[in-house]
Amino acid sequence: MVFHSSFAPIDIPTNGVAELIFENRNNIPDNKPILLDAHSDRVITFGQFKQGVLKFAAGLQDHCDFQAGDVLAVFAPNTVDYPIALIGAVAAGGSTTPANPAYTVKELAHQVGLSGAKVIICSPENVKVALEAGDQCGVARKNIFVFGESVVDGVQPYTNVLMNGRQLRAPLPIANPVDQISYMCFSSGTTGLSKGVMSTHTNITSNLLQIDAVLGPHMNANKDRVLGVLPFFHIFGLSVVIHMSLFWGVPLTVMTKFDLPLFCETIQKHKISFSCLVPPILVLLAKHPLIDSYDMSSLRQIVSGAAPLSAELSTEVQSRLPHCKLIQGYGLTETSPVATIGDFSNPIEGSSGVLVPNMSVKIVNEDGKEVGINERGELWCKGPNIMKGYIKNPEATAGCIDSEGYFHSGDVAVVDERGSYSIVDRIKELIKYKGFQVPPAELESILLTSPIVADCAVIGVYDPAQATELPRAYVVLQPSTKPSDAAAKELMDFVADKVVQYKRLRGGVRFIDAVPKSASGKLLRRVIKDWVKEEEKAA
Ligand code: AMP
Repeated sequence: MVFHSSFAPIDIPTNGVAELIFENRNNIPDNKPILLDAHSDRVITFGQFKQGVLKFAAGLQDHCDFQAGDVLAVFAPNTVDYPIALIGAVAAGGSTTPANPAYTVKELAHQVGLSGAKVIICSPENVKVALEAGDQCGVARKNIFVFGESVVDGVQPYTNVLMNGRQLRAPLPIANPVDQISYMCFSSGTTGLSKGVMSTHTNITSNLLQIDAVLGPHMNANKDRVLGVLPFFHIFGLSVVIHMSLFWGVPLTVMTKFDLPLFCETIQKHKISFSCLVPPILVLLAKHPLIDSYDMSSLRQIVSGAAPLSAELSTEVQSRLPHCKLIQGYGLTETSPVATIGDFSNPIEGSSGVLVPNMSVKIVNEDGKEVGINERGELWCKGPNIMKGYIKNPEATAGCIDSEGYFHSGDVAVVDERGSYSIVDRIKELIKYKGFQVPPAELESILLTSPIVADCAVIGVYDPAQATELPRAYVVLQPSTKPSDAAAKELMDFVADKVVQYKRLRGGVRFIDAVPKSASGKLLRRVIKDWVKEEEKAA
């Protein structure tokens, strides 16, 4: 059985991402403040934003010989300049790959190498990592820039070089938006290591209009103010926060990263009315005493996403902030990103909402049978927002997009008679720590390089207090090492040394005699997850 969205279909844009924003369908005046810095008085108006994008695009062409199809890597925490670089490369006919600013050299080099980035722009504190990763991948030193006004370790600020000359008259037209890549965010997909997700212009522009069809009627460009606290390198921040604010013409106040006092202060000072958040931040909104010291009354609407939000937590937030409506959205990097979203006129706790326009899905059970209402199964999604595929990885692409164009999400969903979807489980390997992806295969390959490890498996264990999964390793030790707290600590430190902080083994290390495997040698994570359930029941 195929379920279709009950919304009228959107007209799929025929132009590119930058062109659609420059079309300015909502008549945003050029002098309207559109990007505001939460940490200073810096403000960028809509006119300055457009000029910035066009200058950045011309600067890339003039100084880096940036051609259509070339790639810019942005390696920085959120700043008000971030959207200019992000969309600037796209306006020059290329694409942008946004990288997690906390990445180690190895992690960044993986992304820069795989995406083929020709230019890198980074934050001042990230210059060393950017230079090292850039060198490893053959990026010319003259093509590495830093945000801000100052030279850092010999790296030129982009303002001196890229923003100092001519500007394009308009974003370059995109000849084939259905095929041409706009962004490459990274995701591990259903299995294995982090992969580059090729989002076409049509993927991104369609999703923008799909989201607008549902949320647009609840936004008021004259009154609303958006908080940009989710990381811009993740598709939720990039698409839903940056693009939607620019499309609607709603001022976006940008926070470099989450910090509870500053978060509350910014909501109070900037009269923030709308924010996209993740469940671990909602736990704080529900429970933290500091919230009561601030005036949060401007906050009218919240969209939670990137990880499951329980009905209980949703209820707690609602009772703490009774004036505020909280809905949930569901999607993936591969769905550009929103597949389902709630309705602010009728929020349903625990539900991830209804299908956005132009989306059709199947729910498929373990026997490969399509199931109906109120039955569990893997969610398969089809629509204009399904990615083109993974960079240089046709096998992984073919493994998740079938011949009919359905993307197999690896998430287990149930739809009720109202057409409301709940995500009830995840059958793919992926672990999410506070909304960030932790590919277990990556941690397993690191652990296997430790001299004391014979075999291992990594899974996520849910911690309700923090509303997040924690990565935990199950390890078979080499015979020469005995299980001990010291050995567990050694392995946690071993991993911590090699990965970005959110991939650490916060769920601990457990020692086992053998990793459960099928006859064909496939690791059986389900069995380990069942052990955890048993343990929880017994506790
Ligand atoms: P990412 O590509 O990083 O956005 O991760 C996508 C994954 O996050 C999905 O496949 C889900 O497992 C999880 N996810 C996103 N939104 C939700 C939600 N509302 N409820 C449950 N899981 C979610």
